Amino acid sequence: MPDNFDMNKIHKVIIVGSGPAGLTSAIYSARGNLDPVLLEGEPSSTGDQPGGQLMLTTEVENFPGFPQGIMGPELMSNLREQAVRFGTEILTSKAVRVDLSQSPFRIWTSTTSEPLRALSVIISTGAQALMLNIDGEERLLGHGVSACATCDGFFFRDQKVFVVGGGDSALEEAGFLSKFASSVTVVHRRKELRASKIMQDRAMQNQKINFRYNTVVKELLGENKLEKVRIQDVVTGVVEDLEAQGLFVAIGHSPNTSLFQGQIELDDKGYIVTHDGTKTSVPGVFAAGDVQDSKYRQAITAAGSGCMAALDVEHYLESLA
Ligand code: NAP
Repeated sequence: MPDNFDMNKIHKVIIVGSGPAGLTSAIYSARGNLDPVLLEGEPSSTGDQPGGQLMLTTEVENFPGFPQGIMGPELMSNLREQAVRFGTEILTSKAVRVDLSQSPFRIWTSTTSEPLRALSVIISTGAQALMLNIDGEERLLGHGVSACATCDGFFFRDQKVFVVGGGDSALEEAGFLSKFASSVTVVHRRKELRASKIMQDRAMQNQKINFRYNTVVKELLGENKLEKVRIQDVVTGVVEDLEAQGLFVAIGHSPNTSLFQGQIELDDKGYIVTHDGTKTSVPGVFAAGDVQDSKYRQAITAAGSGCMAALDVEHYLESLA
């Protein structure tokens, strides 16, 4: 906590989360003289670190403005610097408890005993791709293993890739990857796909996509980059090691909303419900980025909704005056 940080102050806005949504809302609200405080989280070994999911990616080639691409961590560092330049106060703390029942809202952090208080809150805590939790996965993340085909698919031109999962995301990723890869093998743990019929038909008709049903991925092999996937047929028990340069995990995402359960409206999958832009069910509390978006989940859409949240906060605070 910075020495000069005033614990007694009622802030105009506190932003929780430091991905593209949180930092963009910080840039806009700082430039709007709202003196934002941003809780960026804390570094941790689980990948649950400040900067969000882009800290776990390598090159980002689809964020507008970087014709040569930019590394995910560098993009986040630039956004952070930009937010600080306009006066955002960044605390390297996690929100550990919130009280959104009345204004000023209260947020307890991992580094303060007393809660911070604010007239408005922007929640931008993001989502996490669910992972397989198998040997080799964490070590090879960013070195052949990915949870985002749109981000990383381009790097697998003429290579053999695998996609794990049987839902719409898996088949969408497989279709996208088939534009680059020499072959795409979808590995699904059951006999029936979960994906919608239209997505299934499309994938079945794609010459480059093939399926391994009743199959699980047991282990990922390779020293510095992915070389093989060890799969097992769950019916016969047969284990095989197959050559692979890429493996995309598409088994769903989980929004980081456990802190807010019971305090604001969440949908049946746990995402924050927003309306009229970034408003949540609690007036004065706004949500931006993947924490309220299970559909687009792109850095640029998160950044865009972060901008919207800052403008929505500005209007909200004006309405209080
Ligand atoms: P999902 O529908 O929950 O599918 C997840 C898939 O991963 C399921 O096939 C599941 O297997 C499998 N899975 C889960 N945990 C696993 C594990 N530990 N090991 C191996 N496999 C595992 O998730 P999603 O595909 O990300 O889709 C989420 C939502 O977004 C859905 O409502 C979907 O329709 C929607 N979406 C729509 C589109 C589109 O319309 N273009 C595109 C993407 C997503 P089981 O089937 O055995 O449970």
